[in-house]
Amino acid sequence: MGKRWLASVVASYRLTEEPTVDIVACPDPTCPAPAWVYERWTWPSTGGPVEHAKTGCDAGHWFTPLAATLTPFRAPTPVTVREEALIRRI
Ligand SMILES: [Zn+2]
Repeated sequence: MGKRWLASVVASYRLTEEPTVDIVACPDPTCPAPAWVYERWTWPSTGGPVEHAKTGCDAGHWFTPLAATLTPFRAPTPVTVREEALIRRI
């Protein structure tokens, strides 16, 4: 996954303020990278519809967790600092 692609996704997220992708914490608890929500969908279950999401992070982790378990990515880390440095050069 190229850095140019990553920067363009983050840049569009910041510029529109109506994000087409959500940035969440990577569902892997050992992974400090932000993850992007690429898809959301709902599956029926016996307890009612359950929303799932497909996330991919900068480290190459792909998950399909329950949407309710996603955590917004907020904490500044070296990863996000690096992304912001990329954006400033665009
Ligand atoms: Zn990850």
